[in-house]
Amino acid sequence: MATEARSVEQIRKRLLTRRLELQQRGSRVGQDLSRQLDPLSSDAGDRAIQLENDESLHAIGEAAVSEIEDIDVALDRLERGYYGICKVCGDEIAPARLAAVPQASTCQECGRS
Ligand SMILES: [Zn+2]
Repeated sequence: MATEARSVEQIRKRLLTRRLELQQRGSRVGQDLSRQLDPLSSDAGDRAIQLENDESLHAIGEAAVSEIEDIDVALDRLERGYYGICKVCGDEIAPARLAAVPQASTCQECGRS
């Protein structure tokens, strides 16, 4: 089972690399947000842009956090030998789907909802 162990290792590495990227992105967002603590502009138009930037930064941060959570779940499933198995129907998740979304825990069919 040497090949199988190696591929688990590869998957783990891939997930951990992705997790690190997301963490870095998340901390960059945090820095951007703290930089924006300057008082809001007195101009209504500028103010709208400032607030909009804040919101999109928050959205990026939240997306990164939720993806990190998914990756943690995938790593846990990998440890327990359930990686690549749909948690809803128990079928194997298509390799193409895992290639696109390595942290997927549902098959295409079940993930559609
Ligand atoms: Zn399924």
